[in-house]
Amino acid sequence: MAQPQMRRAIESGVPDNQQYLHPLLKKNYGNWKYHDRPRPGVLHHVAHGGDQVWTVRAGTQRQMDVFTIRRLCDIADQYAEGHVRFTIRSNIEFMLSSEAKVAPLIAELEKSGFPVGGTGNSVSMIAHTQGWLHCDIPGTDASGAVKALMDELIDEFRKEEMPNRVHLSTSCCEINCGGQADIAIIIQHTKPPKLNHDLIANVGERPAVVARCPVAAIRPALVNGKPSLEVDEKKCICCGACYPPCPPMQINDPEHSKFAIWVGGKNSNARAKPTFMKMVAAGIPNNPPRWPEVSEVVKRILYVYKDDARPWERLSDWVERIGWPRFFEKTDLPFTKYLIDDWRGARANLNASTHIRF
Ligand code: SF4
Ligand code: SF4
Repeated sequence: MAQPQMRRAIESGVPDNQQYLHPLLKKNYGNWKYHDRPRPGVLHHVAHGGDQVWTVRAGTQRQMDVFTIRRLCDIADQYAEGHVRFTIRSNIEFMLSSEAKVAPLIAELEKSGFPVGGTGNSVSMIAHTQGWLHCDIPGTDASGAVKALMDELIDEFRKEEMPNRVHLSTSCCEINCGGQADIAIIIQHTKPPKLNHDLIANVGERPAVVARCPVAAIRPALVNGKPSLEVDEKKCICCGACYPPCPPMQINDPEHSKFAIWVGGKNSNARAKPTFMKMVAAGIPNNPPRWPEVSEVVKRILYVYKDDARPWERLSDWVERIGWPRFFEKTDLPFTKYLIDDWRGARANLNASTHIRF
């Protein structure tokens, strides 16, 4: 009788990470005694069995060309031990089994244009979204705004002189990736989408577009005898969600798509509970290639926080202690009734949708 065939592995999902680990990390997995930081950009882990690992962290631009990837791999082979990993903020980390290898690796990374730092109470690399390369809805080039800002904050990346760690993020649309951060830079559409009815009739996936709107502002409509859509502009919250399935509903605009700055988000439970960000500046021009207005506002908030916060206060803890009125006084940012939204308006807005009811 024929033997039943072995069931083949399903080749989808996240691969087992053990196969990629540095041998010392694999050997001591879950068995570390303590860790410390000998200098900014270097972590030192000691295992219960006595093994030691030094990890050197360097900043990268996240979106890398083949030349850069090969350069990093060559550095890993020549100066480290052939294993690297990336943090969620796009820093690259090289693991070493000997302290003597740390200084030559740092020298090579710095020489090749990869600054070493981003650990402890530094401004780590900005978590930014992939933008034009992978996504269909960006309102700006997130990587460009990140590059311009990190050029100015490179000393804060290399040193650990902030009151606590500072996580920044940049999102190139209003609705998806980016996440909670101490200071977040987020695109802000200020006008409802403009509809090109001729194209919608031909290329728009109208049911998908109607379903996509979180506040049920889009309805099917007949325009000039052709099937199209209409937007109830009183309901529209200018989120940009309808644009991906239907590019003829153009919302990106060189003048009316702006940047907003949000502060005080954090994911961790350390010392205080996780918090949501609140918007503190809006209507900042989307001004490539260096976005100087965005950098100016972020740096202003960052350096007031650095001077005024107590040791180990995250940005949200600092604002909580001094209060929002003093935050606006100290940072000299203009306050309007639209800022630090407490989400009360959302109840009316979102209850109009088919997706969320509360
Ligand atoms: S933030 Fe939005 S536009 Fe940017 S990559 Fe993420 S989903 Fe796409
Ligand atoms: S999906 Fe967003 S931008 Fe489009 S109509 Fe609805 S609220 Fe407005």
